[in-house]
Amino acid sequence: MGAREALPKYFAILEGEDIPNFFITRRIKLNFNENLDLADLWNIHDEGMDKLRENDLDGSGHKNLLDLKAVIADKILENCHLCEIRCGINRKKSIGYCRVKESLIASDFLHYGEEPELVPSYTVFFSGCNFRCVFCQNWDISQFRVGVEIIPEYMALKIERAYRFGAKNVNFVGGEPTPNLPFILQTLRHVNVPIPVIWNSNMYMSTEAMKLLDGVVDIYLGDFKYGNNECARKYSKIPRYWEVVTRNFLLAKNHYRAEFLIRHLVMPNHLKCCTRPVLRWIAENLGKDVRINVMFQYRPEYKAMEYPEISRMLTLEEMEEAEKIVKNMGFKNALVG
Ligand code: SF4
Repeated sequence: MGAREALPKYFAILEGEDIPNFFITRRIKLNFNENLDLADLWNIHDEGMDKLRENDLDGSGHKNLLDLKAVIADKILENCHLCEIRCGINRKKSIGYCRVKESLIASDFLHYGEEPELVPSYTVFFSGCNFRCVFCQNWDISQFRVGVEIIPEYMALKIERAYRFGAKNVNFVGGEPTPNLPFILQTLRHVNVPIPVIWNSNMYMSTEAMKLLDGVVDIYLGDFKYGNNECARKYSKIPRYWEVVTRNFLLAKNHYRAEFLIRHLVMPNHLKCCTRPVLRWIAENLGKDVRINVMFQYRPEYKAMEYPEISRMLTLEEMEEAEKIVKNMGFKNALVG
């Protein structure tokens, strides 16, 4: 067992036997006026999602469901609630709590350091993040406004070029992709190669953002860090972590043809409070066949030295304990180490 069993649709796309979700979503034809208010646009969106699920591709209309998702995401920016921070900033005028206003790309390249089934992965690193992880390994881009602003049409060309150079997927990450969802949807409107879309995220999206991602994401490459709210509040300054992240994994489970690759970073002194409950929840709610990556590469970066309990790397005993938890829970498609 392995990646192929856990991600059959993804492999079918790579082998040319299937197409990514955003290609199908673009085939759902709709008519709508962009000036309608948000509630009316959501109603049309829900009708479009029904058509998508019913595979009703015969409709007529000048626009499509992906166009509509991009319009809704753009309107959400005016009172931003793309993530569960729901800071309500008008992102067209000001910088949000996540430090994002316009989308800034800190770097983008063919990444060879991801899971074997993903590489080479065309990885787009946005700057800014709604989390404040004290051990962030990408703090230089997640906690600062760095990078360049490019237009979605150009981003789409870069994705197409990466695809021609062998990229197996486009991998939106950061920082965090969520504050950049409007830019990502705009970009995908212009992408004309069948490249799978990877959402590489802390999974703290709002329910509204989750609805927009439904029918767009092929693989949720979701981080599942904490097994309780106290650790999340202490190390990432995030409220209601457990409720939001578990809710979003369950929502994603019902998303249109979505698959999962879930990452859990094992932290020193956090096997009992985090690793064990996280893996138990995944096994009980997403199943033992789901692809998981239980990672041992924690190192005390950024401000971690201010927290003595996480100011070191894992011990050999902690690694063995994590391996034992994965084995005892019966995961069939796990990467560990
Ligand atoms: S994405 Fe950023 S601006 Fe939007 S609600 Fe979250 S923190 Fe606020």
